Amino acid sequence: MSRTPGGPVSAAPSPNALPSYLDPSNLGPWGIYLQQVDRVTPYLGNLARWVETLKRPKRALIVDVPIHLDDGTVAHFEGYRVQHNTSRGPGKGGVRFHQDVTLSEVMALSAWMSIKNAAVNVPYGGAKGGIRVDPRRLSRGELERVTRRYTSEIGIIIGPNKDIPAPDVNTDEQIMAWMMDTYSMNQGSTATGVVTGKPIDLGGSLGRREATGRGVFTVGVEAAKHIGLDIASARVIVQGFGNVGGVAGKLFAEAGARVVAVQDHGGTIYREAGLDVPLLLKHVAEHRTVAGFEGAESIPNDQFWDVDCDILVPAALEAQLTKDNAGRIKARMVIEGANGPTTPEADDILHDRNILVLPDVIANAGGVTVSYFEWVQDFSSFFWDEDEINARLVRIMKAAFAGIWQVAQDHKVSLRTATFIVACKRILHTRELRGLYP
Ligand code: GLU
Repeated sequence: MSRTPGGPVSAAPSPNALPSYLDPSNLGPWGIYLQQVDRVTPYLGNLARWVETLKRPKRALIVDVPIHLDDGTVAHFEGYRVQHNTSRGPGKGGVRFHQDVTLSEVMALSAWMSIKNAAVNVPYGGAKGGIRVDPRRLSRGELERVTRRYTSEIGIIIGPNKDIPAPDVNTDEQIMAWMMDTYSMNQGSTATGVVTGKPIDLGGSLGRREATGRGVFTVGVEAAKHIGLDIASARVIVQGFGNVGGVAGKLFAEAGARVVAVQDHGGTIYREAGLDVPLLLKHVAEHRTVAGFEGAESIPNDQFWDVDCDILVPAALEAQLTKDNAGRIKARMVIEGANGPTTPEADDILHDRNILVLPDVIANAGGVTVSYFEWVQDFSSFFWDEDEINARLVRIMKAAFAGIWQVAQDHKVSLRTATFIVACKRILHTRELRGLYP
């Protein structure tokens, strides 16, 4: 309530009213996240009194990213960095370059990072960044300038102890190298721990590039045991064949599974006898898409959802499994390699059809887990071998998944809700311990 001296008390919004851009009826990614939080609130006990904390990002920065294009003109791009929650430690989460990036999306992705980091119990809060740009339309020089200017603009809120970016959609080791260099130049000293997912020669970690896919595979194997699914004879289909889907597909194939269909932005390929995954990975490295791969037939994109399979790995973008295709999916298990690939309606349909969904917030947490190892190695300037990294990753993923599975059984809830219960309790417990300042 606001009061003009001597005048009437005017009706101002209550201090807890959500600003319009946080309105839950706006069902973009942020609205979906809010629904997920509402679903777990009844399970949070006394900690539920802090739940509002999770419904608004701590800090959101929008930056203008102007660069000189190669033709001499100036172009402006919009960039974001959102720190959703830092109760458990510095912000942590990737940076994506995509023409459809919006503030709502980055807010949701930052919140999912808070949940994910708490779910695997790495000492981080959640953050995410992005630039609204189609990097395929930029030359290498333009890409470097966009990256450096963006890093400089968000430099006021990132840092090895504040918020640590990493790769995400369309960003890679080279982009992390430029980010690390730009931040370091502005600081006056080399700060390798400001980003993870760097090249090995710049303080990167062995096993980081494969970590997300390895985590997808690890939780897939654990869940398969619970539902009596034999990986060695399973049929797998994968959407997105980059860092996440490509590695997960390779590991499933090595375990004896048949990867029968793969879809990416270029098209959909199918082979009943199973694709030769190493050969397909070579093709993708060269052509940047699975389209045109000779060892498979090409099928219409929409048919991907009808392919007979045991495991579906969506490892591309958000909102791919919707109410329109969830009823057609043949899989017994969906492993979310991407962030937010399943809409809430699709989630309900899959649940009703008894299809197990391993949610993003645990299924793809392998990437940030090895990011944590990278950050620790950078601080101690002591680097571990790959076997040690993979063994630690598998141990953390298995333990986290086992705990979540148990919570799902105890409360008779989905694995997504169970993961949110575990994570929200951890976050809100630290919130309560720290108390409010001032
Ligand atoms: N972008 C990845 C994710 O969504 C990794 C984030 C990180 O390593 O910080 O989990």
